[in-house]
Amino acid sequence: MKKEMEKVYNPQDCEDKIYQKWENSGFFNPDNLDLAPEAENYTIILPPPNITAKLHIGHSAMLALEDLMIRYRRMNGYRTLWLPGTDHAAIATQNVVEKKIFTATGKTRHDLGKEKFLSEVWDFVNNTQATILNQAKKMGSSLDWSRLAFTLDEKRQQAVRKMFVDMYNEGVIYRGERIVNWCPSCHSTLSDDEVEYHEQEANLYTFKYSANFPFAISTTRPETKLGDTAVAVNPKDERYAKYIGQEFTVNFCGQELKIKIIADRKVEMDFGTGALGVTPAHSMVDWQMALEENLPIIKVIDEDGKIYDGFGDYSGLSVLEAREKIVSRLRENGLMIKEETFSNNLSTCYRCDSPIEPLPSKQWFIGVDRPVAKFNGKTLKEKALEAYQKGEITFLPDRFGKSFESWMNNLRDWCISRQIWFGHEIPVWYRGEDIFVGDEKPAGEGWIQDADTLDTWFSSGMWTFSTLGWPENFPNGKKIGDLERFHPTQVLETGYEILTLWVSRMVMMSLFAIGEIPFEQVYLHGTILDAKGKKMSKSKGNGVDPLDVINIYGADALRLSLLMGSTPGNDSKYSEERVESKRNFINKLWNISRFILGGLSEEAASQDVYKIPELKTSADKWIISELNQTANFVREKLNDSSFSLAAEELYDFTWNKLADWYLEIAKVEKNKDEILSYLLKSVLILWHPFIPYVTEEIWSQFNDDLLMVKQWPENFGENNSEAVAQQALIQEIIIAIRNARSENKIEPAKKIEAQIISSEYFDFLNSQQEVIKNLKTSLANLIILPAGEKPEKAIALTAEKMEIYLLGAIDEEKEKIRLTKEKENLLKMIELLSGRLENKEFIEKAPATLVNKEKERLETMRLELEKINKLQEAL
Ligand SMILES: [Zn+2]
Repeated sequence: MKKEMEKVYNPQDCEDKIYQKWENSGFFNPDNLDLAPEAENYTIILPPPNITAKLHIGHSAMLALEDLMIRYRRMNGYRTLWLPGTDHAAIATQNVVEKKIFTATGKTRHDLGKEKFLSEVWDFVNNTQATILNQAKKMGSSLDWSRLAFTLDEKRQQAVRKMFVDMYNEGVIYRGERIVNWCPSCHSTLSDDEVEYHEQEANLYTFKYSANFPFAISTTRPETKLGDTAVAVNPKDERYAKYIGQEFTVNFCGQELKIKIIADRKVEMDFGTGALGVTPAHSMVDWQMALEENLPIIKVIDEDGKIYDGFGDYSGLSVLEAREKIVSRLRENGLMIKEETFSNNLSTCYRCDSPIEPLPSKQWFIGVDRPVAKFNGKTLKEKALEAYQKGEITFLPDRFGKSFESWMNNLRDWCISRQIWFGHEIPVWYRGEDIFVGDEKPAGEGWIQDADTLDTWFSSGMWTFSTLGWPENFPNGKKIGDLERFHPTQVLETGYEILTLWVSRMVMMSLFAIGEIPFEQVYLHGTILDAKGKKMSKSKGNGVDPLDVINIYGADALRLSLLMGSTPGNDSKYSEERVESKRNFINKLWNISRFILGGLSEEAASQDVYKIPELKTSADKWIISELNQTANFVREKLNDSSFSLAAEELYDFTWNKLADWYLEIAKVEKNKDEILSYLLKSVLILWHPFIPYVTEEIWSQFNDDLLMVKQWPENFGENNSEAVAQQALIQEIIIAIRNARSENKIEPAKKIEAQIISSEYFDFLNSQQEVIKNLKTSLANLIILPAGEKPEKAIALTAEKMEIYLLGAIDEEKEKIRLTKEKENLLKMIELLSGRLENKEFIEKAPATLVNKEKERLETMRLELEKINKLQEAL
């Protein structure tokens, strides 16, 4: 080769240039791939990162994994589509921008007004979106940018409106008053799975509403008791049976309440007093009881977490202030019976950690238990469960299938309206009592659109098909265009923490919209923790910016460090040392390539990778056999989503078998242009999906085509068990000699001789003389004999099926000293033993076997002495 590779691989000089080359080729877009019409599809829709912030290391891991899946399939003849996009993340984004504005100007969104505030949000969104897309490119992601989508762009807005209207018309979406999880700080509802639970110490108060009420109740939230309309007791509880059905009028800390005693089997008799104050407006459970018992519903707490008007001097107080006031009044009036602490779960907002207030509110819901006509009366929940139970959707790891199932089983109606400004508008208009649900504002005066927006998961739940052109690509209920070609997708690769929030919604939405599953397999990755196993976060300061890492080590090193050692469903640790070690491997690969390319003829360099070269020596047959086995293993593991195992095997092949053994042999055997060229091309092909940049860069040194679309050969050679056994023998000899040299402290430069005695391998070993002599064994001479005896002054090595001796390795001066010492010891022992054997008492009393043993020992020692005498003479 005339061209010489740079001494050191410099990712900073290559990566952007290579990414540009890939993009310009158009091959990220499956429409440009040269494929047979019957080629199989392989589609992944990128889980859209939230545009709240730039990407973190967890996103890098996701990109590395998905790019690996896609590149591998692309190189194996699939019609591969990896579709990119970002998520508007309604509530999260609104919170971030609100905070930003407040920190900078002290103004709230209400001060700015909706229009001005939203324009600030859009500025922010456009900014972070550009950053995110650039980060994704830096990772080497082969995403089809021509199909880029955003969950809140015009097309997705159309899709969302259509979905809402269809679900409403089908009776799946309905409006109703329910207790919702309300965050007084975000000023919005949260879905059940956006609520977090923190164990805390809480006070449990036991008291009577008033002196005339016959028994006490227990609660952690006395302030909500202002809204009690009943007390529930267990029908089996003998203490209270006689009161069931009665109604009491009480004066509770200055407020008049009408309390009906009702029976409910769910009341635990041994919790508190076994009597439960029922507050329909501020508890999900109590709301349900109120519906069943037809109880009045009194709202006490408003959306700011304050007491409503009409509650005397409690009105306007915060929840905690009101609680304090009521507790002190109960104490003053002698109604407080017991105050104790116990630990319970506090519900908090997953966005801002504020305590949740359950409040009744008019909201839009998706009824997961409502019969759907087009499902022949089955519900969304039943259809989604059926898809899993029939095996249409599988999970990796398997155990998450069970989580999916149990979560689906317990799913309640999904509240989809949110009281925030940024998000999909709800396609509903009101005029007095009239409601209109449709794609656009109805004709006529006075229609006002619903002020709320949709839960962010509504639009991301539609992500697999809204990105593929639904609804235009679904005329008359038939898939056409991209939707026909790429849906259902093959894999959804995402974090296990959004299995319930996102994955399950996608299944229901896709089944409803197009009657099919959104994906065949769900691959769930774990969380990337810091080196100490802690969660990374901005506030803790242990987060890592992927771009900083890429700037130092290159994207390939980062990718490989995230791919190796990670398994589906399990968290893994990130450390810079690991990235560094992968960078070292990439340098090794570069050096291997430099060595091979440096000596390659033009002809060998341009030879076809699909033709296995002529194999001349045992080592040639062995390395091709190893390559083929490695390639088969890699293929099997990649098909199986065991990415780390695939990389580890390939790593071992490249570093140990190819570089440490075969290249060394090639230096001795020479004339290996063809096979070296073949090996390098094969290794680059196998590595490309893992570390695309460096492999493409090396490939470009001797190929005009692009590695990213180079098809994997059907097979990489033939297995050859004879050659494998022969090379194992050679390696055993060489390692034994190297070990003996180091154990005997023989200077590396010192040339020595070796003698191998083997009848079985005599011919083969004779043919391998040069290899054995030159692979860091420093042998001046090697004698191979079919039979013979141990030569004098030789070091004997342990090896199976042959004898190996090193000659000329012994330092004579040191040896003389050693022999003198050994002789002295022997003479002492001989004197002792012969003395004992001359002792008549010992001979008579000791057992005959012992006496004989001692005689044998003495004889052996005398023979040893003779040997030493001879050795000393020789010296
Ligand atoms: Zn909140």
